[in-house]
Amino acid sequence: MRTVEEHQRVVAGLIEKRPPVRLPIAATLGLTLAEDIVAPLSLPGFDNSAMDGYAVIAEDVAGATEDRPVRLPVVEDIPAGRTDLLVLQRGTAHRIMTGAPLPRGATAVVPVEATNGATDTVEIRTAARSGQHVRTAGEDVTAGTTVLRAGVALTPAALGLAAALGLGELSVIPRQRVLVMSTGTELVAPGAPLQPGQIYESNAVMLAAAIREAGGEVVASPMCGDDVDVFRDTLNRYAGQADLIVTTGGVSAGAYEVVKDSLGSGAAPAATSGSGEVEFAKVAMQPGMPQGAGRVGGTPVVTLPGNPVSALVSFEVFLRVPLRAAMGAVQPGRPRRSAVLTEDLTSPRGKRQFRRGVFDPATGEVTSYGPPASHHLRWLASANCLLEIPEDTHELPAGSRVDVWDLS
Ligand code: AMP
Ligand code: MG
Repeated sequence: MRTVEEHQRVVAGLIEKRPPVRLPIAATLGLTLAEDIVAPLSLPGFDNSAMDGYAVIAEDVAGATEDRPVRLPVVEDIPAGRTDLLVLQRGTAHRIMTGAPLPRGATAVVPVEATNGATDTVEIRTAARSGQHVRTAGEDVTAGTTVLRAGVALTPAALGLAAALGLGELSVIPRQRVLVMSTGTELVAPGAPLQPGQIYESNAVMLAAAIREAGGEVVASPMCGDDVDVFRDTLNRYAGQADLIVTTGGVSAGAYEVVKDSLGSGAAPAATSGSGEVEFAKVAMQPGMPQGAGRVGGTPVVTLPGNPVSALVSFEVFLRVPLRAAMGAVQPGRPRRSAVLTEDLTSPRGKRQFRRGVFDPATGEVTSYGPPASHHLRWLASANCLLEIPEDTHELPAGSRVDVWDLS
């Protein structure tokens, strides 16, 4: 059997970063910036008012008080967006709005609240310090400054900054495009009527969501029966659009193992089997023992087991990290915590066990959640962590320390 780490290395070795692309800024949220952003202009781009009020020369209103206001003629009205260049003469005021360009010569803005708000002759009721309520050009960003470094994940605020600098497109590491294929003649799409013996398809929905949550793009998530020709046709239809193909089901030791039959030699239950470029292996873990990985027509393919818990745990253990790393994530893995177990647990010897759990960050305690079997989706849906129990551990008494993967 392969160790978890061995199979992690095989999968990681298949997934490659795509070359950077330029995308419209609105399409780049969460992506990794591929080159530094150097400010092409300053922010603010021009001196402007920080308040609605009156642009003045500070000396002109030096003596103004509530009782002895200074009266100034209002000779211009400057809303935000006015583009002509104005000059303020001594002994006059311009009415000005927040964000409007400060006229040349003005040294301060008196807020409207400290005036009578008039548009002909304004009464200024307070003195103004030079520079008061003026936003100076370049005080936020000076043109030529590197404001964001290649490698950062683009947040809403980063997009806001880039947009403020006038950048319509950004160079980013593109998303990995993933084809998700679920297999099983028993599967029916949710929403359709169910015959006896059939079940609703859940893996493709779940894995597509996990891929999107990890930042990937899902090319398609078709459902195939256990028919080799249908499987191959479906794969060929979409494979050209994908950087990675993820399949579920059809890789264990029974008959009708469509993924094995299509991509490998299909039958042999040995530790490693397969022909061509896809290798099927047993990995010493629970859940998720039957795994496979390789290439089809040059495109990486990772074949996950069919049991829903196995499929999602396998995604967490083998795929999520290389997928995120290939999109430039600096910390592609889940945060790990050391937690104190609240109950006795046993784990199979010789296998890495991943149990679903509920971790309480307030107490640092973790309680396993639901049985270890690989078809209990209900518990997985309400768990917030995976407990990772080493191969050589058979019994874990309450109070033991255990590693957990924080899924929250
Ligand atoms: P397999 O690996 O194909 O033998 O599937 C193992 C178990 O997982 C069987 O009980 C299947 O019915 C179930 N299973 C496989 N694929 C899916 C799927 N896409 N959605 C829900 N259950 C599945
Ligand atoms: Mg199956």
